[in-house]
Amino acid sequence: MRFYFPDSQDQISPRYDFIRDEYPDHRVRQRDDLYAHQAVNPAPYDGILVSKAIVDGSVKGAGKYSAPQRNRLYRDGVREFFGLPRTMDSLGDCGAFNYIDEEYPPYTIDGVLDFYYECRFNSGISIDHVIFGYKPEVPESEADPAWMKRREISLDLAEKFIKAIKGRNRLISEPKNRLEPVGAAQGWSPDSYADSVARLQKMGYKRIALGGMVPLKTPEIIACLERISEVREDDVEFHLLGITRIDSMERFVGYHVSSFDSTSAFRQAFMDERNNYHTAGRSYMAIRVPQVDGNLTLKRLILAGVVSQSEAIKAERECLKLLRQYDEDESVKVQDVMDALRAYQSLIGDAKKLKKVDKYEETLVDRPWRDCQCDLCRQHKIEMVIFRGTERNKRRGFHNMTVLEAKMRKLPLT
Ligand SMILES: [Zn+2]
Repeated sequence: MRFYFPDSQDQISPRYDFIRDEYPDHRVRQRDDLYAHQAVNPAPYDGILVSKAIVDGSVKGAGKYSAPQRNRLYRDGVREFFGLPRTMDSLGDCGAFNYIDEEYPPYTIDGVLDFYYECRFNSGISIDHVIFGYKPEVPESEADPAWMKRREISLDLAEKFIKAIKGRNRLISEPKNRLEPVGAAQGWSPDSYADSVARLQKMGYKRIALGGMVPLKTPEIIACLERISEVREDDVEFHLLGITRIDSMERFVGYHVSSFDSTSAFRQAFMDERNNYHTAGRSYMAIRVPQVDGNLTLKRLILAGVVSQSEAIKAERECLKLLRQYDEDESVKVQDVMDALRAYQSLIGDAKKLKKVDKYEETLVDRPWRDCQCDLCRQHKIEMVIFRGTERNKRRGFHNMTVLEAKMRKLPLT
């Protein structure tokens, strides 16, 4: 089972100063900052997924890349740009979520192939159009016309895509440098997915990415895989787009799913309400210590005279000091830390978050960061469970991916 991490230019600064909350002088992001696979060893994924929409920008706005970064990616290729070790793979796609509202995908076959070939990806997914909806019982003849159209657009583009790839691959002498075509299957039911897969196989695809399944419940995904397995040809393997579901991975593998991609373990570190810091057995809530300087809500309250800036800074510092002391000195009581955290949250007047403070206690009592052997937890200790600013939050996300990677390694069949 191969796990791809979708790139969104998430990096950390290795010399960030946690005590002063400052970046090093003369920091040059491109030269100094690290991707997850450079920050933790072993790398927490097997490959990287890069979307054209993230690189080039899209109808929804600018991409995540600056113009010089984009130029460097095209010039140096994806392997050198990301510093990918030999063992890691690269997969390109169009980022169909970015043009979900359009009637037709805004890319041409040649434009997408230029992106895949110039960046020298190992594999590239055909241009697809996501269907948002799942109606298992609805036959082709009664389906929403917009859904049918999107499936036909995806299949039509997939057919042109593989023909164009075969043409371009012929010009490349080394087989290992050729682009592997991955066909994208869309559908709204087990039958429609299976039909898409059957048609992609006929076009010559040996690897097929199943799209639009993110909102589906696991039994619904299984139902689709089951139906797809009836039409599957012997040497065809599947990629699940945007799906983790570690508990179901073993079953997915049984249906010849050989790879997937997901940002969820990473994003839960700072997007989830409570499951922020993952361990093999459970997850913990990270401890919020907002930055008086960096928090917009807090800044507004200070400007409005609701919160005193000097008191807020004092309370913030007290929380950080006690948290660090708690980690270093066994005689520091968890209740003293909790009191400081409560005092800070009530000072900044967030009743909803104040209620959550109680959940911090188990994070403190269990000290899960001490049990983690990842490079980041060993280096940063309690800072890893502090919900505060991008440097801590992304590190926690990288840590979560190491936990996911370890779980996957333990799965049978992989
Ligand atoms: Zn860790």
